Parts: sequence; C-alpha cells; structure tokens
Amino acid sequence: MKVALLCIGDELLKGATVNTNLAFIGERLLRNGIIPELSLEIPDRRESILKALDYAYSKADTVITSGGLGPTSDDITKDTIAEYFGLPLEQNAALEKHLTSWWKKLHSGPAPLHWERQARIPAGAEIVPNRFGSAPGIHLERNGKSIFLLPGPPAELHPMFEDEMLKKILEKREETLHASLTIIVGIGESIVEERTQPLLRDGISVAYCASPGLVKLFFTCRDEALLNETTAEAKKIFAGDTLSDGITSLPAEVLRLLERKKLTLATAESCTGGMISAQLTAIPGSSAAFLGGAATYSNDLKRLFLGVRETTLAQFGAVSRECAAEMVEGICARTGADAGISVTGIAGPAGGTPDKPVGRVYIGVRLHEAPRILECNFRGGREQVRMQTASRALNELRKLLLEQEP
Ligand code: ATP
Ligand code: MG
Repeated sequence: MKVALLCIGDELLKGATVNTNLAFIGERLLRNGIIPELSLEIPDRRESILKALDYAYSKADTVITSGGLGPTSDDITKDTIAEYFGLPLEQNAALEKHLTSWWKKLHSGPAPLHWERQARIPAGAEIVPNRFGSAPGIHLERNGKSIFLLPGPPAELHPMFEDEMLKKILEKREETLHASLTIIVGIGESIVEERTQPLLRDGISVAYCASPGLVKLFFTCRDEALLNETTAEAKKIFAGDTLSDGITSLPAEVLRLLERKKLTLATAESCTGGMISAQLTAIPGSSAAFLGGAATYSNDLKRLFLGVRETTLAQFGAVSRECAAEMVEGICARTGADAGISVTGIAGPAGGTPDKPVGRVYIGVRLHEAPRILECNFRGGREQVRMQTASRALNELRKLLLEQEP
C-alpha cells in the first residue's frame, strides 16, 4: 500500500491556516510504520482537485484528503471525488435525518442553506461518522483505488482519523511494518541523530521529528524483534532523558511523576506569562498535582503576590538569580505546594542590555529544599524564547523529581 495526502482548501495556500492536518496525519501514519509518498496542498477548485487526484494515484493507491466536506458552496471535495470516479451522488435519507436532528439539538432556527448537501454520498461509499461536527467522513474503494475523505476542522479530523479511519487504512497493508516511538527531552535533534547512528543497521529505518524541548525518534522495521532490540538500546543511550512509554509531552511527564510521588506543584511565571500553567492544565486530570500559578509580570506583583523583596529587585533586578529564587520560594510558601517552578527573563525584542541580553532567563525549580536556579541564554525571537523557557523549566523539574527517585 502506498499513501498520498491531499489537503484541500484555499486558506492553506493563502497562508491563513497552517496545515496542521498534514502534521497530525503524517505523525499517526509514521507511528504505524507508514510514510506517505507525497502530500499536496490544493485550492477548493474542481480542476485542481482532479489533477491532484491523477497525480496522487500515479504514485499511490490510497489517497487521504482533508477539507471541503461542509455544506457551503466552496466545499466541493465530495462532488469532485464522485466525478473523478464516475459515480453519482446519492441523498442518504438516514444521514439527512441525523443531520437535521444534530442541527436542532444545537440551534433554534431552521438549518442553513445547502445543509442537506452534507447527506449526499458518492454511490457505494461508506459513511464514517463525525462525532464532533456535521459533515461525515467518507471511505470509497473503486478499481483498486482507495480514498478516505476527512473534514477540515482539526477538532473533527483528529478523532475521526484516530478512531475510525486509521484502522481501515492499516487493514489494507499487505506487509506489517512495526514502529516504535521514543521521545527524548532536552537534547537537540543533531545530537540525537549523532548518538543514534551506531544503532542503525539493515532493515531499520529512522525518522526524527523535533519540536520545542523534545525530539521524537521513530524506528520502523519489518522484524519486530530487531525493532524492540533497537528501541531498547536507544532508551539505554538516552536514559534519564526520555519520556515514559505512552507519555507524549513534558507537562504530562511532570504531572505523572508528581502524581506518583503524591506531590503538588505551583508556578510563578514572569516572561512566560502563564504558558507553563496553560501547558499543565491542558492535560486532563492535572488537578491531581497542579495547584495553580501566578503570572507576575510586574515588579509590584512579584512583591505583592510572591513576597519578592524590594531590596532584591533594587539590587539585582527582576531578571536575576535572586529574584527567581524568591519567586519560587514565595509561590511554594503561599500555596503550600511541595514543588515549584519560577521563570523570569528577557523575551525581547526590546529590554536587553550588554549585561542581560535578550534571551537571558533565570529558571527556579524547587522540591522541598532550597531552590535550584539555572541561568539560560536562549536564542531566537520572543515566542521562541518563551517556548524554550517553558520546556526547559518543566524539564528541570522533571530531572529534579527523578533525582529523588528511590
Ligand atoms: P466545515 O463543515 O467546517 O466547512 P470542511 O470539511 O468543509 O468543514 P473546510 O471548510 O475545508 O472544511 O475547513 C474548515 C476549517 O478547518 C478551516 O477554516 C480551517 O480553519 C480548518 N482547516 C482546514 N484544513 C486544515 C488543515 N489542513 N490544517 C489545519 N486546519 C485546517
Ligand atoms: Mg467548509
């Protein structure tokens, strides 16, 4: 089986929407040992879709599309796919009933123009339910070609792909490719690659995928035993710097460690303005360990909310080791949390000095005892500095929690 992706939507070409659907589908396929032959972004235009289908099927037998399934007149994916395969679109009565009741449940007025168009399905296609939206997904097999149509909105596409479509795609594989994922934190992509080199041998393919603070290391292999052996060796090489199996983000790992030790956490953030606490609370069940945080941006709030001393601010400034230490001590003392994180720094673009340039950040982490303070010099623009600060702070706390493992 060879796979091609077509992401359909004018907004993708205008730069108005970032193609996160490709990133999501690509990653899920990779986890299952499938790397697509190609991916195209195309406008909501009949001729472009037809040409793209021709090209995609010259390289692959299975096409996955995203976007253009909704009720509005610019949503033409379904019509064009039906045309491509020479199939009529048939009004599905059961689906129309479902769509009408779906609308009535959420809205008071009559359904909008063309609403019922969503119940038109290419003859012989399979309907894939949409749990979080109206437009259903579609699966069609025709003359040795498979096609899977997904709606554009990521909140609808993600669960539909994960719960329904991926299974159907995997069933089509003639040969099983086994895949493993190891997530490495706090180490750059090139170093990960360098250290992984000695593990590579015939039959093992490797892929790296970096995002702020972590690198995803994928191995794929036809031989399951060889894959397991290679993955185990990688985990040894990166011991202490990998996330636990099944955990895919730093905040989730930190919460897991805290929960296991029955510890609580509070944060005091300046230059990240609450990013760390937002990342933590994005994880379901975070309340078991995370008490909350203070976004203390001004000096006054650092004094008022955290008890940072006036003299500390006057003598060392808000961006200093001393301030970071008092911030983390303050948040722990005032909330009763066992563990604390503080960050204070210069995210830029303005505000840097020769002494304290843009990117200088002090991170404090504390677990019961005296805080550990880290001086960092991050590179990049404001957002990069803030993202790196959040990841680094969470990783420092993760390491501190691990050091205290029995
Ligand atoms: P709807 O019923 O919402 O119209 P649809 O299947 O017709 O669903 P589109 O109209 O193509 O989907 O896109 C709806 C929204 O989904 C877009 O405005 C955009 O925000 C988001 N979206 C579409 N394609 C992508 C993509 N590839 N990556 C991320 N977001 C996307
Ligand atoms: Mg639409």
